[in-house]
Amino acid sequence: MKVLTVIRQRLGWKLFLSYLLVLIIGFVILDVTAELQTPEVLARNITTLRAMQVDNPDLVADLEAHLQDAVHDQLVLATFVAIVAAIAASIFTTRRILRPIQAMTLASQRIAAGDYQGRIEPPSPDELGALATSFNPMAEVLDSTERRRIDLIGDVAHELRTPLSSIRSSLEGLVDGVVPCEAATFLGLQREVSRMQRLAHDLEDLSRAEAGQIRLELRSVDMGELINSVAARLRPQFEDKGVALRLEIAPRLPHLQVDLSRMTQVILNLLGNALHYTAPDGEVAIRAWSDHAELFVAIQDTGVGISAEHLPHIFERFYRVDKSRSRAGGGSGIRLTIARHLVEAHGGRIWATSAGLNQGSTFTFTLPLSP
Ligand code: ADP
Repeated sequence: MKVLTVIRQRLGWKLFLSYLLVLIIGFVILDVTAELQTPEVLARNITTLRAMQVDNPDLVADLEAHLQDAVHDQLVLATFVAIVAAIAASIFTTRRILRPIQAMTLASQRIAAGDYQGRIEPPSPDELGALATSFNPMAEVLDSTERRRIDLIGDVAHELRTPLSSIRSSLEGLVDGVVPCEAATFLGLQREVSRMQRLAHDLEDLSRAEAGQIRLELRSVDMGELINSVAARLRPQFEDKGVALRLEIAPRLPHLQVDLSRMTQVILNLLGNALHYTAPDGEVAIRAWSDHAELFVAIQDTGVGISAEHLPHIFERFYRVDKSRSRAGGGSGIRLTIARHLVEAHGGRIWATSAGLNQGSTFTFTLPLSP
C-alpha cells in the first residue's frame, strides 16, 4: 500500500514503471514468438540434415533444446540491458520534465505566500513550455493587481487624511473654544464631509471600473440630444461663473448603443472640469461630429491648460497637476480615470491635448458607430 502511494505521488516512478511495462510486454512477445518460431526453424534444418543423410532423433531433440535455450538466454540478457537503459533514460527524462514543474510549483508557492515576483524560464517549446509561458503572464497580472491594490489603499488613505485632519482640527478648536461656534465653521465642516462623500462615491465607481465590472445597460441614444441635455444641466453654473458655453453639434449625428447614465457621467466630468479650470470670461466649446467609423466629442476650454509633462498622466488615478489647486477646489484626481474606463468600456478612446499652461485644453473622446 505504501509503495503504491509513493508511486502515485512521484512522476519519476510513474515514468520508470511505464518504461518497464513496455519492456516486459516486448520481452513476453519476443519470447513467445521465439518459442513458436524455433521448431519451424529446426524443421527446416532437419530437412537439410536429412538431405545430408544424417538421421538421428536424439540429435534433433538436442538441437531444438539448445536453440530454444540460446534464444531465451539472449532475450533475458537483452532485457536486463534494456532495464538498465530504461533506468538511465527515465532518470534523464524525469529530470528534464520535473525541473520546470518543480520551478512552477516553487513559483506558485511563492505567489501563494504573497511574493508576486516569481517568473520561470520556459524550458522547451513543448506543452510544458506552453504551461510555463502562460504561467508568467498570470504571475504578472497577479503582481500588477496586487500593486494596484496596495497603491489604491495608500492613495485612499492619503486622500482621506486631509479632510479628516481638517475636520478634526475644526472640532478641537470648537471644543477648546478657539474656533467660533458659528455658521461659517459648520459650513466648512459640511464642505469637508461632502468632499469625503463624493470621494467615497467616486472610489466606488473607480474600483468597479478598475475591476472591469462596469455593467453597461446599452440602448439607442441620440448623442446630439444627450450632449444638449448635459450642457443644459450645467449652463446655470457656467452663467454663474461667467464662462461662455458654446455647442457645435453636427446635424444628424447617428444614434449609438450606449449606457445613457454612464455617458452622461463622462460628459458631465469633462464639462465640469472644463468649467472648473477656466477663469471667468473664458469659453468652453463642445463639438460633436462623426466619420464613417466613429463619433467624436471634443470639449475645448480656454482655461489653465496642461503642460506637456503632465499630459500623459492626467488619466491616471489620483493624478493632479497641481495638488494644492485641485484639492482646494475639491478635486481628487479620479474623475478623468473613471471617464477613461467608461469610454473604453464602450469601445472608445479618450485623450487630451493642450498647447501648454494657460493655453486651454481639449479633451476628446470617441465612440465606435457599431458596437
Ligand atoms: P480632479 O477631480 O482633480 O479634477 P480629474 O481626474 O478630473 O481630477 O482631473 C485630473 C487632473 O487633470 C486635474 O487635477 C487637473 O490638474 C487636470 N485637468 C483635468 N481637466 C482639466 C482641464 N479642463 N484643464 C486643465 N487641467 C485639467
